[in-house]
Amino acid sequence: MNLAELTNVNRLLCSISGHKYKLVKKITKHLKHYQCNCCGSQVTTNSKGNLISLTEELKLIHLGIETVIVKRKSRKLNKKKAVA
Ligand SMILES: [Zn+2]
Repeated sequence: MNLAELTNVNRLLCSISGHKYKLVKKITKHLKHYQCNCCGSQVTTNSKGNLISLTEELKLIHLGIETVIVKRKSRKLNKKKAVA
């Protein structure tokens, strides 16, 4: 059995017993990426808090949000340094 076939079998198992998602990335308090331990499928949370599949488009959007947050954080840190 090759890897692709194994993934298909795992997907089938997941569709029966449900995915076993674990947190792989936290962007904001409400925006997180999860990956299934079993089949490797990636999902994220939408504005309503529901799990939706993580598309390449969403990944790019989230990367943009992450960049803004990181920039904001580093700006805050710089301000603190300037005060101290
Ligand atoms: Zn799965």
